[in-house]
Amino acid sequence: MKVKKGDKVLVIKGRDRGKSGHVASADHQLGKVKVEGVNIHKRHQRRGGQNRQPGGIVEVVAAMPVESVMLICPSCNHPTRVGYHRIGEVKKRVCRVCKAIIEDVKK
Ligand SMILES: [Zn+2]
Repeated sequence: MKVKKGDKVLVIKGRDRGKSGHVASADHQLGKVKVEGVNIHKRHQRRGGQNRQPGGIVEVVAAMPVESVMLICPSCNHPTRVGYHRIGEVKKRVCRVCKAIIEDVKK
């Protein structure tokens, strides 16, 4: 998956198309990401439980498919696809628009 936690992304599909935010969590197994402030769902929470939590309608960020977001390049600020570039032993993530190196890819 080319997007990871902490990345700034632009939403390109769905109800929140056009919004941007930081990736709060990324699930590599499911190929889904949670983006702060995007894809907010209301959940009806029942009161109770061990610590007597109040019930009501809570807003939660729902995960969305990683195909629905595009990385915003930190150096040129354009939404971009992510490329990989190998320098010696180190793999780097690069921006396809301005070719800037985003960061090293950890093995
Ligand atoms: Zn760029």
